[in-house]
Amino acid sequence: MINTSMQEAIRGRGLSRRDFLKFCSLMAGVLAIPKSYAKNIEIAMETAPRTPIIWLEFQDCAGNSEALLRASRPTVAELVLDVLSVDYHETIMAAAGNLAEEAKDAAIEKGGYILVVEGSIPTADNGVYCTIAGRSAVDILAHAAANSVAVIAAGACAAFGGLPAASPNPTGARSVMELVTDKPVLNLPGCPLNPVNLTATVVHFLTFGELPAMDDLHRPLFAYGARIHDNCPRRGHFDAGEFVRAWDDEGHRKGWCLYKMGCKGPVTFHNCPAVEYNDGTSWPIKAGHGCIACSEPDFWDLGLYNQADLQKFAPPSTYAPVQPPTQHIDPAAAGLIGAAARLVVGAAGAAAYRSLTKPDQPEGSDNAPAEKG
Ligand code: SF4
Repeated sequence: MINTSMQEAIRGRGLSRRDFLKFCSLMAGVLAIPKSYAKNIEIAMETAPRTPIIWLEFQDCAGNSEALLRASRPTVAELVLDVLSVDYHETIMAAAGNLAEEAKDAAIEKGGYILVVEGSIPTADNGVYCTIAGRSAVDILAHAAANSVAVIAAGACAAFGGLPAASPNPTGARSVMELVTDKPVLNLPGCPLNPVNLTATVVHFLTFGELPAMDDLHRPLFAYGARIHDNCPRRGHFDAGEFVRAWDDEGHRKGWCLYKMGCKGPVTFHNCPAVEYNDGTSWPIKAGHGCIACSEPDFWDLGLYNQADLQKFAPPSTYAPVQPPTQHIDPAAAGLIGAAARLVVGAAGAAAYRSLTKPDQPEGSDNAPAEKG
């Protein structure tokens, strides 16, 4: 393990104290913790040793490594060389062949590292569909996980199987959490993951000594606790019934809602609207394409341009019942229910409320609000 503190390492690369404090504040923001915790992060970063990382790649396109290489908050140099100590990463390490394998074995023997896994793991036919240096991915994962302190599944394939596990899943692709059951596993799904969320996860681990709070799919709540639809800049158009109906139509040029073009924002949890991709440059919905639900399990099987089923995010049963559409609803009462829905389940609840209270639609129609124009 390298014992240089991150602050020393960052200073050694010519970054100012101001840059360092900005990094700590940025991390507090991404982690959605009070700004006062920036001080805790600052102290942890100043004193913590660089975190050793072993990064394995199995059935993947290397998109998550590519995303990491393009990160600039911090830059890849700061992230890879200073903040983290990436002891093994096939794609970016200088060593190859036996030297690379020896470096990995030495790092595993030392222990105390965070294991990052990119890609799914094929289990059919004794794992023959992914082997490295004569060993199957199943074997390599088990060996590397044994001495780790925590495992991070980076990207949709490692988190949920991703494209290799899409029907009919010929290689028997499995996710990391299906195979590693005796270590804490945190999923950072996305196609690719957002490197800001990876850095924030590691910073949380160093600051608080544990992985951040997770949902039941092992995703950190700071990054996957909110529905995209509830924070979407096009949400007003959804509520107003203003939908894009064809690429490059008038609504598309005006930035209307992409639900009818297959946007899965109503059923997807991710912090894309807040942190965006490519250092806050843009993200799919901002660029004019609907969300494809890449942070949700089995998203390849949903059909990229199929409409999301809005009934799936109906208000919970503990919430005041919605009257059947055939009954008269007093406008004032409807307003109260709608307001409660917003309080309980956010704006999405109100949309679900509207979809449940509007008259039955003809067969083949969807549950989105009535379309304008
Ligand atoms: S359906 Fe998609 S584009 Fe429309 S408001 Fe929801 S998340 Fe935004």
